[in-house]
Amino acid sequence: MSKGTILSGMRPTGRLHIGHLSVLENWARLQDEYRCYFMIADLHSLTTKFDDTAELPNDTRQMVLDWLSVGIDPVKSAVFVQSAVREHAELHLYFSMNTPLSWLERCPTYKDQLVQFEKQGKDITTYGFLGYPLLQAADILIYLADTVPVGEDQLPHIELTREVARRFNFLYKTDLFPEPQALLGRFPLVPGVDGRKMSKSYGNDIAISASTDEVKKRVNAMITDPERVRREDPGHPEVCIVHKYQEIYNNEMLEYVQKACRGAERGCVACKKELLEIVEEMLAPIRERRARYEKSSYEDLRQYILNAREYLSGQGSLQSDDNGTERVPEAVVDRFKKFTGTRREKNYLREIGQYIIDDYMAGVFDENDVCDVVDAKMDLVNLILIKGSQRARLTARNTIKKVRDAMNLRY
Ligand code: SF4
Repeated sequence: MSKGTILSGMRPTGRLHIGHLSVLENWARLQDEYRCYFMIADLHSLTTKFDDTAELPNDTRQMVLDWLSVGIDPVKSAVFVQSAVREHAELHLYFSMNTPLSWLERCPTYKDQLVQFEKQGKDITTYGFLGYPLLQAADILIYLADTVPVGEDQLPHIELTREVARRFNFLYKTDLFPEPQALLGRFPLVPGVDGRKMSKSYGNDIAISASTDEVKKRVNAMITDPERVRREDPGHPEVCIVHKYQEIYNNEMLEYVQKACRGAERGCVACKKELLEIVEEMLAPIRERRARYEKSSYEDLRQYILNAREYLSGQGSLQSDDNGTERVPEAVVDRFKKFTGTRREKNYLREIGQYIIDDYMAGVFDENDVCDVVDAKMDLVNLILIKGSQRARLTARNTIKKVRDAMNLRY
């Protein structure tokens, strides 16, 4: 049975916080069941931050590092930047021609957000902001995605996507677009350490990539029961942020935590210490993976590409493996036994190197592109995004071709 297709994404907001973890872990699980496209939605961030783009490249990089460190695997899934696949914009334009304005105006988030931004002194009554749910529809449908993992607040947008698909199919007498289904996830709402919504801008977040010291500082700053002045005062866990975290991350011990708190059998210091250990245990492997991606083995990869090119220019062809797939020959691979890192990392580097060589051989990358990759000293994250965007573009181009055919746009 062929796999279903998933499209999901996030606006590039820089380092993510632990409130995002459950969504990312869900994505990581879905990778084995679906063909996944994970998008850095930079065009969407322009709908509200069109006048503030200086941090976009760094925010993109930091967010992708978080994705990778939580387990998004760029070999299994296409990890790409939305604006690098221009077909999203093209499909959005075609949809904008036949989508009634009222469909967009009735999106429940539209008016709410206009008011919210107005309170912050920002006017976002732009064409782009009104149309962003339609851009989302284009993001999903360009990959013919049949499944979209979302939270409940996004359901109206999926319904709009279904209507857009239906209308296109009806108008142009085609069955090109599927009507995607929402894959509803319920993720715990992790509060900020001061009890408000967790947000970087409030300074109350715990970043996925936070160091031990940063986590410690945040846990120590958590607001507990204000009525519990002395250790022997009985506590009220229901008003305590540490308890809220225990509920999310230490649920099996929750009954004990509540009882010990109410009976003044444990102090808040011990309670925070325990929570710190739990959060640390959760973040330590993620932090470790992030550091490895951050350093990246650029030199290894560069050598791989250079040597593979050298080999290819001499020998002229790739060798087919048992499945008939053309690979860089073992003779070349053997020269990279000295790759640093785990076996999985080595394999991954080879995969990326292989992709670049494959694209070079297929004419997707020309000589200059390969030189750019090699000479610009791009790190692993850049290479992953280049590769992911190319992979996404191949599918997107194919869909656009069919859309244009259906619309009789032949020239
Ligand atoms: S003992 Fe724990 S749950 Fe009770 S108030 Fe202190 S930190 Fe909160």
